[in-house]
Amino acid sequence: MLTLGPDDILLGRHADSWQIALDSAAEALVDAGFVEAGYRDGLHAREAQSSTFLGNTIAIPHGTPESRQHVKQTGVRVLQFPQGIEWHDGQQVHVLVTIAAQNDEHLDILRQLTHVLDREGVAEQLAGATSADDVARLLSKPTLEPRLDAETLCVNFPARDPQELALAAAARLRQCGCVDNSFITGVAAAQPTWLGKGLWLTSSDQGVNQPALGVATPAEQSLESAGHPIHALFCLAAHGDAHRPLLEQLMAVIENGESQSLVGKTSAQLLASLAGETANTHTHRVRVLNTHGLHARPAKQLVQVARAQHMPINVRLEEGSATPVSAASLTKVIGLGARRGQWLVLSAEGEQASEALEAVAAAVEDGLGEKVSPFDGGREDNAIVDTQAAPSVAPLASDTPHVGVAASPGLAIAPVFVIRPLTFDYPQHADDPEHELVRLREALKVAGTQLQTLVHNAPGAEVADILSMHEEILDDPELYQAAAEGIRDGLSAQAAWWEAIETAAHAQEMLADRLLAQRAADLRDVGRRVLGVLCDVSLPEPPDHPYILVMDDIGPSDVARLDTSRVRGLLTVRGGATAHSAILARALGIPAVVGAGQAVMTLNNGSMMILDGERGRVTPQPSEERLLRAEKQLQEHQQREADAWETRFEIAQTRDGHRVEVAANLGNTAHAADAVERGAEGVGLLRTEFLFMAHASAPDLATQIGEYRQAIDALEGRPLVARTLDVGGDKPLPYWPVPHEDNPFLGLRGIRLALTQPDVLETQLRALLMASTNQPLRIMLPMVKDIAEFRAVKAIYDRLLTEIAPSQRATDVQLGVMIEIPSSALLAPSLAAEVDFFSVGTNDLTQYTLAIDRGHPELSASADGLHPAVLRLIQMTVAAAHTQGKWVGVCGELASDAVAIPVLVGLGVDELSVSARQIPLVKARLREFDFADAQVSAQLALSQATSDEVRDALEAR
Ligand code: PEP
Ligand code: MG
Repeated sequence: MLTLGPDDILLGRHADSWQIALDSAAEALVDAGFVEAGYRDGLHAREAQSSTFLGNTIAIPHGTPESRQHVKQTGVRVLQFPQGIEWHDGQQVHVLVTIAAQNDEHLDILRQLTHVLDREGVAEQLAGATSADDVARLLSKPTLEPRLDAETLCVNFPARDPQELALAAAARLRQCGCVDNSFITGVAAAQPTWLGKGLWLTSSDQGVNQPALGVATPAEQSLESAGHPIHALFCLAAHGDAHRPLLEQLMAVIENGESQSLVGKTSAQLLASLAGETANTHTHRVRVLNTHGLHARPAKQLVQVARAQHMPINVRLEEGSATPVSAASLTKVIGLGARRGQWLVLSAEGEQASEALEAVAAAVEDGLGEKVSPFDGGREDNAIVDTQAAPSVAPLASDTPHVGVAASPGLAIAPVFVIRPLTFDYPQHADDPEHELVRLREALKVAGTQLQTLVHNAPGAEVADILSMHEEILDDPELYQAAAEGIRDGLSAQAAWWEAIETAAHAQEMLADRLLAQRAADLRDVGRRVLGVLCDVSLPEPPDHPYILVMDDIGPSDVARLDTSRVRGLLTVRGGATAHSAILARALGIPAVVGAGQAVMTLNNGSMMILDGERGRVTPQPSEERLLRAEKQLQEHQQREADAWETRFEIAQTRDGHRVEVAANLGNTAHAADAVERGAEGVGLLRTEFLFMAHASAPDLATQIGEYRQAIDALEGRPLVARTLDVGGDKPLPYWPVPHEDNPFLGLRGIRLALTQPDVLETQLRALLMASTNQPLRIMLPMVKDIAEFRAVKAIYDRLLTEIAPSQRATDVQLGVMIEIPSSALLAPSLAAEVDFFSVGTNDLTQYTLAIDRGHPELSASADGLHPAVLRLIQMTVAAAHTQGKWVGVCGELASDAVAIPVLVGLGVDELSVSARQIPLVKARLREFDFADAQVSAQLALSQATSDEVRDALEAR
């Protein structure tokens, strides 16, 4: 959203005519680097169409749509003319708010300015202001009006008392970013107040980012507390008393109506009630068709038509604020900020009301003086349907970078393919169980054939494994039995099958919570496939040309199934950079941006997009110019990759010869040969849990030896660093269920879990030792918190060394630990005395240092391993290791971050272990700087206070 700051304001201008004023506004935009000189003509052409005078001595010059090609960057320049200029429509102007917009961002500015237009005295204050701050303050909208729209509602919540409703409403306000956790704490500590008429109020001013009013209604009709009915609860996130008018308006509305009727209403119905629409109110919905929404010109027309009806007509956005505005007020109508595709609700009361509304609606449909195209019920409507699913999500502005979490580097330019949640329509009951059973069996067969084809075409072993697991689910006799029972009880095949799937999935989730959540997702995945066959709904068919896949969230199994020949990039609503799905995306070399928010679901299938996985940005519908720039960048990137590929076998070292080993992170021993082919100097992290996950029960000694030997042989004498089984947290192992834990990331995982079944650990250590004889083997333990855990494993390891004859086992072997818990970094000196090496797992170390779940849908964007706190822990680790003559690797995702590499090298890290695809680029990056340079970068990074400051400081170097 565009906002005004003092730097945008140029005071004390003078112009003899409005044309000269407009020219200096154009010049100011050029000087700011927002536009090219050609934009000036666009500003003049726009004035020639109609005046951009807004009111109260303010005009808002902006270019025509054709002149947008000259816009380099969206921005605003405000020019103050203390002596005033006569505008071409005869109005006196003191302030030009000149906008360089690539799309409809000028609507934001318009909305901000509408409040100034009604205020008395502002014109004089603007003319006489002597500081940029004063002008900015006068023009900026005080965001005091509390937000109340479909997103702040929580309807039909299964609460038992007002306090539960209050907490649900508070959580809703947090979800839409109006408040933070301390608000919820404030609400939890207070008892809701009884307002009368079944209404309750709770409020807090703690942790309020934006004043808002949440409204929650209970699911149950006749709920009571202390003898009072519970019909609705207002949850107020207050700033001063700006909420009073709204609250009073709502109370009046509800008192006039019947508060009991609020229970059971949908969000849209509740908004209508809160907007004061009653049985006597006539309403008419009409869709805005204007390409650039209800900006000044069409809004003016709407107002004129509304006034011509000679009766009060109100208008509101269907999914927007519950406060209707007068359709006769230009500033209020502009203030709605209505965009193309959004529905307006017009309302009026009395005789002739419906004719009046029809007249206004007809004018809106006709385009309010602008040429409009019908709203495309197919392509465009998708966006609206999804917007409704996630109310009030503004669609992404075209040709404007939208920020998400950088999850896998690379640039992708391709049309998007959006996978929206499928809906299946089916009868709950059926009369002929035999027929339903036949249908189910046939559907299972068809789904099985589909899966077989997918397994056959799978791009790699990991993908095939996951799909084979789906085949097993399909063959599960218990699932079939459960569904068959449902059918015999009178359910349709669809209803019975889905009930069986849901019951099984739910049971998995209950058993081990997050550890098995992924298996539940697989169950539902298979369930939907069969349901698709039964309902004749085809699962979304990806296009046969390259595309960027857009989904709500993407699990590791989804990533593994991707058709890498066509998927150019991945974009998700949720997810974090160090979730295993992101790691897999990197392993597959697919650029990815995750956690980009609900708005990405409003993208139209087939629309073009630039996805920058390095910077975590996506730009929908880029302009020709931006597209050309991105294509050039892509070519350069491909060239860089090609150059790096050419030199991939050269030794990994800095420009001045400081050696840093570059190794590969692997999840599958079969990929070791490929890693060597990509220039790996060893394997720095073998995630052995994937081997365990690929089997239905723990693999025995011989199987494990065979697997590890595959990697060791492929490495031809290069070192293998194998991590012992690391399950728990976000990596479930179906046959090793963990009792329910509220906090699995702080529970039984990593070495703690492994030590609960020492025989499994012992078999693994034995297999690792016996898989290699004269090749270098390094074994490391995950999630070690202190020396005691290391010693517990070391005791087993030492015993094995005596039990297995040296001729039968590795002799060049080291035992080390991962540094992924802050305690182990803080205690590195005591660990360094006994371990052979450290490998820093920055993914978990960052998670535990910053207390941010690495897969958290919103927060993980700020879980940046370049945080100075994490860097200090790495510094301590390296210092302790080097004092004892031990080496330190980094195997978390930070090791392949181009900005972080010099910092890690400067901190003294000896080895970087990265996904195999990154190896040539990481080696090439090392050759770009000297060690002394890297040390300066490291010191610079350590001296910053936040990760943003670290990145800014490094970028500025
Ligand atoms: C880490 O935590 O940085 C790491 C390498 O381990 P994983 O990502 O497998 O948890
Ligand atoms: Mg880890």
